Amino acid sequence: MAETFGSAAALLSLRSPQNPVVCVRPHLIEERARRVVEAFPGDVLYAVKCNDTPIVLQSLWRGGVRHFDTASIGEVRLVKRLLPDAHCHFMHPVKSYEAIAEAYHEHGVRRFAFDHEDELAKILAATDHARDLELFLRLAVPGQGALLTLTGKFGVESERAVDLLRRARAVAAAVGLTFHVGSQCVDPESFARAIAIAAEVAHAAGGIDHLDVGGGFPARYKGDEPPFEAFVRRIMGAVFTHRLGCALQCEPGRLLVADGASVLTRVELRRDRALYINDGVYGNLAELKWIGPQFPIRLVRPSGVVCGERAPFDLFGPTCDSIDSMPGPHWIVSEVKEGDWLEVGMMGAYSNALRTRFNGFVSGETVVLRDAGWYLAKVEGATALAA
Ligand SMILES: *Cc1c(COP(=O)(O)O)cnc(C)c1O
Repeated sequence: MAETFGSAAALLSLRSPQNPVVCVRPHLIEERARRVVEAFPGDVLYAVKCNDTPIVLQSLWRGGVRHFDTASIGEVRLVKRLLPDAHCHFMHPVKSYEAIAEAYHEHGVRRFAFDHEDELAKILAATDHARDLELFLRLAVPGQGALLTLTGKFGVESERAVDLLRRARAVAAAVGLTFHVGSQCVDPESFARAIAIAAEVAHAAGGIDHLDVGGGFPARYKGDEPPFEAFVRRIMGAVFTHRLGCALQCEPGRLLVADGASVLTRVELRRDRALYINDGVYGNLAELKWIGPQFPIRLVRPSGVVCGERAPFDLFGPTCDSIDSMPGPHWIVSEVKEGDWLEVGMMGAYSNALRTRFNGFVSGETVVLRDAGWYLAKVEGATALAA
């Protein structure tokens, strides 16, 4: 069990960490989960790859999440070990034969995604031609509106989809369509466009039992991203317009966990407006590069949070690779100096899940913090990120 502290400052005054620290706030994850489950009229599947820390999975469960989007047999085993009553769904369109067989025969998995006839044949063979499969065909959809597009790797074009869906229907207990509009998608219209494509396929193939609208719902890094409820309204509008009378499910990752953790990282050198810190792209902070400088950052000393005038900084990670840079402007209190700790907020998603051991740097331990998470409050110089 992770150690618990009242705040980041309390942690720094009681310990003298030398490596980055991931600070999980289970109460915030639980609260977010409750709100998302309540707002969505269907099954909410947490996309486990986003953050598979046991405390995170257990907090989601306490918040009412009962379904998990698992993409590997490792994720299925982890979820079933921690949460034996959870429902795992194998929503990755390309799986190994062994993974499918173990998921079906040992872990009770019945929902599988596919986007090719060979994968369909593999699922049938690996489950001994089971009659209780729920097969979800992954559609290719446009990626506009998302900060991180996922186009080009998975998904079948609509022309081929109708035939594949009919073939699945002939062997499955239920069929569905699924898609992913891309991660950190800030435009509800992207979901409406994808649903229009799905509806055309569904009607041409004689209907579907399930529609899975995927993940991609944005975390509120800047505060101007539409809330989840706006996406739900647009999704429901499109489902109604296109007369899709089927069960719904969604697969949020980032949305559920982003505001549930922060990362503490130490400044090892300041060179003017450049800070060399002990965490970076190969550690917990990859998203500071790939999504860009929109994460709230505060200066924390053992005595407390330091407020004051902010200035734009560039950040550099600890490894020798030049990829390990996180260009600004990151707005940080301008008196920051070597030995200071920065707390990067909104780091629950795709942070510790992506870390490596590259160059011998340690990405540190995980602790539990009981405070409110400052991005829920208004802080001088920072955008109020209250949802
Ligand atoms: C990664 C992924 C998700 C979660 O995406 P977010 O952008 O974090 O919501 C959901 N479904 C699938 C199939 C994924 O690959």
